[in-house]
Amino acid sequence: MRSGLVTAALAVVPAVVAAQGLPRVHIIATGGTISNLGNDARRTGDELVAAIPRLKEIARVTVEQFSNVASGSVTQEMWRDLAKRIIALQAGPDAPAGYVITHGTDTMEETAFFLGLTVGGCAPVITTGAMRQASAVGADGPANLLNAVRVALAPSARGRGSMVLMNDELFAARDVTKSNTTRLNAFTAPDAGVLGLADPDTVVFHRAAPETGSTCRRATFDVNAITSFPRVDVIYASIGADSVLVDAAVAAGAKGLVVAGVGRGGTTPSQGSALRRARGAGVLVATSNRTGSGRVGGDLGDTSLAKLPAGAGASIGTADLNPQKARLLLMLGLATRMRPIDIARLFELR
Ligand code: GLU
Repeated sequence: MRSGLVTAALAVVPAVVAAQGLPRVHIIATGGTISNLGNDARRTGDELVAAIPRLKEIARVTVEQFSNVASGSVTQEMWRDLAKRIIALQAGPDAPAGYVITHGTDTMEETAFFLGLTVGGCAPVITTGAMRQASAVGADGPANLLNAVRVALAPSARGRGSMVLMNDELFAARDVTKSNTTRLNAFTAPDAGVLGLADPDTVVFHRAAPETGSTCRRATFDVNAITSFPRVDVIYASIGADSVLVDAAVAAGAKGLVVAGVGRGGTTPSQGSALRRARGAGVLVATSNRTGSGRVGGDLGDTSLAKLPAGAGASIGTADLNPQKARLLLMLGLATRMRPIDIARLFELR
């Protein structure tokens, strides 16, 4: 294992040879608190599954160890490889009915969002993890993993794409964020709310699934078209913040900047001047906010924005996406050479 990373092609291990006839759920283990035993010891995905006998009764579970890292160590390239791996499995023989990704909670919202933007199809992709370590009293990992597999199997989950399951609650990948450092109910969707529940008797959804045809979902981005990830930095606004970090980001080669603005996206005058300079240098500036909820609108009707070619500097809003998710979407838009107006529209897509 190199730097905790196992190349996908080498790592497919049928973990549980279970009753034939059950639908297949494929679990891809990436690490995180769910596998953390403390003292640098980590459970593998096979070990996580073996600890939940009920899984064998409801699904034919296969497990793949993609990595075994804290989620702060997940990289953009790992996002891409994970998406490619799921897409390959979808096209292969015995394609799973659903996918479960075990992942550290700290950046789970980003990986789940990336998968939501790059993986299409009907089979749901459920990302889950744990707030308490695998060795802790009251560890939540096993219940989360079992619930994630239940959702992956649920007919009502088909066509809904990428979701996060934590603490019995289901969230759309686009809407979810980690909003507490420690509590079991750390995950919320501040503007859109909980999408559904994995209750003891059944999986329920609070909102209807989008109208879908037989192919269910088309990915927003073709992951194979992403050859590299352009630099996009987040600039945090606070009283007295100066221009230094904006200028440094541009000097370091940023192609995009996300502003974690005050209120509806404000900055200090000094940051504002630096951001204007950045736009003049061809940087796309996307304004989000530091409040934790609410929209920052873009001016989609602005005819001057509509005329700008790909690669031009501009200023757009990020709708209700938080800074880390806005950064991800901006990276993808820039990586695929989209025009500023089309990137602005992406933020409004649900
Ligand atoms: N919550 C951390 C994460 O998101 C935990 C790291 C770990 O224990 O692996 O990965």
